[in-house]
Amino acid sequence: MNNRLQKLSEKFAEKEIDAFFISQMENRRYLSGFDGSAGYLLIMEKKAVLATDFRYTEQAKTEAPGFEILQIAGSIADWFPGLVSDSGIKRLGFEAGDVTFNFHRQLNDAMKKKKVPVKLVPVNGMVESLRAVKEPGEIEFIRKAAAITDAAFEYVESTIKAGMTEKQVAWELEKSLRENGSQALPFEIIVASGPQAALPHAKPSDRVINEGEPVLIDMGARYEGYASDLSRTIYIGVPDGTFRKIYRTVLDAQTVAMSIISAGITGHQADSVAREIIEKAGYGNAFGHTLGHGVGLAAHELPRLGPDSEETLNEGMVFTVEPGIYLTGWGGVRIEDTVVMEQGKVRVLSQARKVRYD
Ligand code: ZN
Repeated sequence: MNNRLQKLSEKFAEKEIDAFFISQMENRRYLSGFDGSAGYLLIMEKKAVLATDFRYTEQAKTEAPGFEILQIAGSIADWFPGLVSDSGIKRLGFEAGDVTFNFHRQLNDAMKKKKVPVKLVPVNGMVESLRAVKEPGEIEFIRKAAAITDAAFEYVESTIKAGMTEKQVAWELEKSLRENGSQALPFEIIVASGPQAALPHAKPSDRVINEGEPVLIDMGARYEGYASDLSRTIYIGVPDGTFRKIYRTVLDAQTVAMSIISAGITGHQADSVAREIIEKAGYGNAFGHTLGHGVGLAAHELPRLGPDSEETLNEGMVFTVEPGIYLTGWGGVRIEDTVVMEQGKVRVLSQARKVRYD
């Protein structure tokens, strides 16, 4: 039993389960080390099984030591009842946020048919809350992913010019990320210029970037499976008063939020500090998303930093701090860094340059 499985099985009693069936991809990887694209885990208190098909059994043996590897084939009905029938399991947790209605029905039907008396119990966020607190090795992977992202940004910041399209800039970024060692990107790069930057998640288009426009860039790299997340907003040409004011407000909101975020505060408290600064500057309605989110094996995971988040920010958590202001017809500014909670305070992992306007 590895340390992560140990921590997980310690929570079985409070959820009233005696085993846990894992189907979610990142959770499977986190608990077993196996990063193939298909497979399931059955975690019992004294034993752990990794069920995967012919394509992956050899890989699974290497990547998931300590797991019993079960080679599966056919539909769930062919192997699931056998997997759980002789195990003594009475109440089996399943990942309610991942299992589809159809899959749940197949599991139930298969057990009924074979008269296996196991009750399926929905469980939420159990592995995700373990994943939120990173081990030193995980933080190092995210730091490396952040360094790759920084390098790509710095390259593009020095070469971007009026006349390029958003897609061209996105492609330069993507090449740079991959050349600097990123695995497949954790999410599609955002390059949004001029009025397009008012859409927080705009897709890069064939729009030509003009002089006198903001360009919002949001991207991440992946290293050893771990993601980073970085946003910068640059200005082509000499920034006007409006851009300076909005940019300064966003940067101020980010800087102050980072300085007050300490271990023990809630995601809601962190969010409200940044939100208040933006509101006071008169852009209260223009910050329409949350302040941040956890980053790890998934680009978006726990904890959440937002008005509805009662989650506590704890030592070892890695998350983004990304305030923004978006004005329809004008454009937008977002500044985002990936940070880690260390010794009760925020340490910034991404180091890409930020322009400061006085
Ligand atoms: Zn983000």
